[in-house]
Amino acid sequence: MELPRIVENSPFARLARLKLGAANVAMVLGTSIHLSGVSREDFLRDPFWVAHEMEHIRQFQEHGRLGFLARYLRDWVRHGYYNIPFEVAAREAAELNAHLYAQGRPLPGSEERHPTPKAKG
Ligand SMILES: [Zn+2]
Repeated sequence: MELPRIVENSPFARLARLKLGAANVAMVLGTSIHLSGVSREDFLRDPFWVAHEMEHIRQFQEHGRLGFLARYLRDWVRHGYYNIPFEVAAREAAELNAHLYAQGRPLPGSEERHPTPKAKG
């Protein structure tokens, strides 16, 4: 499975992390995955997390950078982070597609998976 560019210690992901109050964050900007508080290696070890971010890359491609960001921010204000339709779809895609990113290993159990931030903001 071909992976996109991954940026560690991203200042953009750091801002999202502060906003969400999360220990670690991965976020997609265009065709790159930006990380803060997590190494590339640890991120890639969670195929559910990778599949979640890959769905955001697909959404970026479908809506365009500006289209995606405008909708994402509008829906954040409207519904809260957890219920942003792009996030709901990414959580569903994670369950469906994690096996594509498992690299031959068994899928991690729920206690080993990265938790989705529950921020209301
Ligand atoms: Zn997401």
